[in-house]
Amino acid sequence: MAKRKKSEELQDSGFGCAWPGCDAPGNFRAPRSRQNLHDYQWLCEGHIREFNKNWNYFEGMSQEEIYAFQKEATLGHRPTWRGDRLGADAQHKLEEAFVRMFSDGQARDHVASAKPISAKSKDALAMLDLAHPSDKPAIKAQYRELVKKYHPDVNTGNQRAEDTFKRITAAYHYLMAHYVE
Ligand SMILES: [Zn+2]
Repeated sequence: MAKRKKSEELQDSGFGCAWPGCDAPGNFRAPRSRQNLHDYQWLCEGHIREFNKNWNYFEGMSQEEIYAFQKEATLGHRPTWRGDRLGADAQHKLEEAFVRMFSDGQARDHVASAKPISAKSKDALAMLDLAHPSDKPAIKAQYRELVKKYHPDVNTGNQRAEDTFKRITAAYHYLMAHYVE
């Protein structure tokens, strides 16, 4: 039996890309979820590539979870914890996926510095209102608290909150990759 294609190109679907925040023409057809391969969304060339790259990861994910993934990917592959909308399991899966993406990319380019910590780690801790020595569970807990406060979803149109959110997220990822307890 022939293997089902993950996505399919159409010359001109007339649809826009369904990826959140993207307004390119969506001429590539992709299933909305792995559970229902006949229910399509339309994506642009860049996003169909992104979609296909994550195809294995989408296994077992619902349409809502995939959409949440796409939305977060738009924000720069950063995790957010939407306890109110996604179950803990979905959150966990999202989190893991982002950790994977990070460890495939820039995170691996740097070797974690030994104690004492670098100025950059210190700054990142300060960004999260923490001080050395700390540990990853504490950093994670603190980040979750700050996310609740600064997430763009609860600060619609507030540019300052959005900037803070980006900075704490960057600080958090930096520490997860580099902080040596
Ligand atoms: Zn797109």
